[in-house]
Amino acid sequence: MFKGLLLKILDLIYKKKCIVCSCAKTDDLLCKNCAKDVNFLSGFPHKIYNSIPIYSACVYTTTVKTIIHLLKFSHKKQASLVLAQLLFEYFKKLKLNNDFIIVYPGSFYLTKWMRGYEHMYLVAKEFSKLSGLKFYKSAILKVKNITPQYKAKNRRKNVLGAYQINKKIINKIKDKPILLIDDIITTGATIEEVINTLKKEGVSNITCITISKAIKM
Ligand SMILES: [Zn+2]
Repeated sequence: MFKGLLLKILDLIYKKKCIVCSCAKTDDLLCKNCAKDVNFLSGFPHKIYNSIPIYSACVYTTTVKTIIHLLKFSHKKQASLVLAQLLFEYFKKLKLNNDFIIVYPGSFYLTKWMRGYEHMYLVAKEFSKLSGLKFYKSAILKVKNITPQYKAKNRRKNVLGAYQINKKIINKIKDKPILLIDDIITTGATIEEVINTLKKEGVSNITCITISKAIKM
């Protein structure tokens, strides 16, 4: 009770601000104006890779791009809440009705160390709270650092062998429906490499949803 009261007082002192435009006209982390800029995509998989559907919730522009950048490069952990909400809003529309286990591609240990946290872990944790679905921390480990490569061909070569499935978790997820979530899909090379890695370990019931999709304008 005391904690609740304290939170209310803190809320009054530090009036909530929109994390994107910093305006104070909101009770949420995202103001109505910024929320308007979120372009949700259709409820169809935008790609089927090796019989695995890959969905994307939003277009990677304006608001969504800013929120992802805040989480990845500006230490704004709160951004994970907004991203999880966007993902959940889209996920509900899909009506997949499966008792999924949520997994996400981990960050390379140096990135995690420099950032102080694993950004997709924070999103998965919040998404798990919203959806009531179970999630496993560190199920997919990134064992190789990937330097940014923008040419599709190089990117594919670059991500080969970049991921490993955590041996301690593999048996817990092997026969379960898996919901693989990630922040962004560009060429698809990363998510496809993760799918390949999961399949090699015998995980086959996979559905992917990325928060955003980069679309060439
Ligand atoms: Zn705003």
